[in-house]
Amino acid sequence: MLPMSTVVAKCPDCKRFYWIEEADVVGVIPHYAKPGDVPLEWTLAEEIKRLTIDEYVEALEAGVGRDASEERFLRVRFWWSVNDFVRRDPTAEIPATYAQKLPENLARLSALLDVRNPKDRLMKAEIARVMGDFAQVEELLEDVPEDLKWEADTLLAHSRAKNRLVAKLKVGWEYKPSLFRWLP
Ligand SMILES: [Zn+2]
Repeated sequence: MLPMSTVVAKCPDCKRFYWIEEADVVGVIPHYAKPGDVPLEWTLAEEIKRLTIDEYVEALEAGVGRDASEERFLRVRFWWSVNDFVRRDPTAEIPATYAQKLPENLARLSALLDVRNPKDRLMKAEIARVMGDFAQVEELLEDVPEDLKWEADTLLAHSRAKNRLVAKLKVGWEYKPSLFRWLP
C-alpha cells in the first residue's frame, strides 16, 4: 500500500532514501489477492510509510534532493509536516530541532520559487508572512489573478494582523486545513 502523495520513502532495511518513481517494481499485489496468490515474501514486505519530520530533515541533509525541483519538494513537505504537527495540537511546542531548521528551510524554499508564477508568488508570500516580513507579503500580492484572489486576500488579512502562525481558515461551514497546499 502506498500512502497517498508519497513520493519519497526510506528503505526500512538499508535506511536509504529513494524516489518511488525510480524504484524497481518487484511485483504488484492485487487487492483481491488471496493468501498463496503471491509469494509470502511480498506479503511480509513492510508498507511504505510517509516520511516523518525528522526524516525530511535527514533527507535534505543527505542531499536526496538532487535538483531544484526535488529539493523544493522536500522543503515544502518538511514545512507542511511541521504545520500539521502544530495543527494537531496548537498548544504543543515545536521541538527545538524543527524550530531551528525551519527558518533556513523556508529561506531556501523561497529562493527556489518563481515570482513570475502566481501560485509560487502566493507561497513566497506565505513564507514571508511566517517569517514576519509583512512588507514583502504586500509587495508579492500586489497583483494576483482573479482565481487566487480569495487566498491572497486571506493571506493579506493575516499578514496585516501580524499573524505569523499557522492559519486555520474557515470557508463557509467548512474548515480548510491549510491555505497553501499546492504540490510543488
Ligand atoms: Zn534498502
